[in-house]
Amino acid sequence: MTERGIYLHIPFCRGKCPYCDFYSLRADASQMEEYTRALEARIAASPRFAADTVYFGGGTPSLLGGERIARLLSAVRTHFDVAKDAEITLEANPGDDLEAFFGRIREAGVNRLSLGMQSANEAELRALGRRHTQADTARAVEAARRAGFRNISLDLMLAVPNQTKESLRRSIERCAALGADHVSAYLLKIEENTPFYRRAASLSLPCDDEAADLYLFAADELGRCGYSQYEISNFAKKGFEGRHNLHYWRDEEYLGFGPAAHSFFLGKRFFYPRDLASFLSGGAAVDDGEGGDLEETILLGLRLTEGISKERLRSRFGKAGEERFERLRKDALPFSKSGLLSIEGERIFLTTRGFLLSNAVIGKLLS
Ligand code: SF4
Repeated sequence: MTERGIYLHIPFCRGKCPYCDFYSLRADASQMEEYTRALEARIAASPRFAADTVYFGGGTPSLLGGERIARLLSAVRTHFDVAKDAEITLEANPGDDLEAFFGRIREAGVNRLSLGMQSANEAELRALGRRHTQADTARAVEAARRAGFRNISLDLMLAVPNQTKESLRRSIERCAALGADHVSAYLLKIEENTPFYRRAASLSLPCDDEAADLYLFAADELGRCGYSQYEISNFAKKGFEGRHNLHYWRDEEYLGFGPAAHSFFLGKRFFYPRDLASFLSGGAAVDDGEGGDLEETILLGLRLTEGISKERLRSRFGKAGEERFERLRKDALPFSKSGLLSIEGERIFLTTRGFLLSNAVIGKLLS
């Protein structure tokens, strides 16, 4: 039986971080109930299917409160066939009073937390406009463990203003000391239409070479601390790889609810516009074409350290998959000679250095 992922976007934040391009609005208590009801109605109207992951992303899903998260999870469980061992993740930000909230959502069945730590360095947190301190992160992790969470992921940002290898090393060691099971380490990207974009020149950002150095350094240090890289930006202790996001990278299906949520379902890609009012008033999703073809599977699979195997392409696409793998193996040779990619038997995968140039390498391989 094919099991899919379910994504629920909670588009509320306490305020907007100056680098952030995710769809989120300043939290408005009066909209929380209306939004929860809108999600419940969309879930009830959705086609039924089997799911093995549920992901509450944002925004800051914890702002919805424990009771509403429990209601949404109950709506998901009532409507979909959710596996007993499903991974159920929720994103939260340190700094909020999370003790009671964690207890309630753990009881409701959430079993994985993703906490927006970003850095263990107070100056870096301030430069990023974050509303929490390093001590808040420690308190959030302790509260999560007390509530019974056995799977905690921490987010880190790389190449933030004034970051050095030494400060990054301390942030990574802090993740390990807090007992994180998984670390997502994203290079800061300066997105258009953000305050950071408008004042990029005054931000003391590392140049591209320095950013690349910080990324390679982070991958090494995370490895040293027991976190194996399994995707461009994701590192985990053995057995703690994020199963929900693996659906995305393995080109498997998922259904998203909420403004800005994307879906790949029954072979089609579609998304809801970044518009809360439209979602609340029943606005439809926008068609984004077909999904899941051979080229897309290669493009996404090369984000993973497992890469692309001949067997996987064969089992999904038959003879056409096998032939494509052989062509890919030939085209990949020059990148393998320059150390950006490895070809091991019937598997092709990018190296950590290759991940840094993944867009260019994958673009050339697929052109
Ligand atoms: S808390 Fe997260 S989603 Fe909200 S504004 Fe900050 S970075 Fe964006």
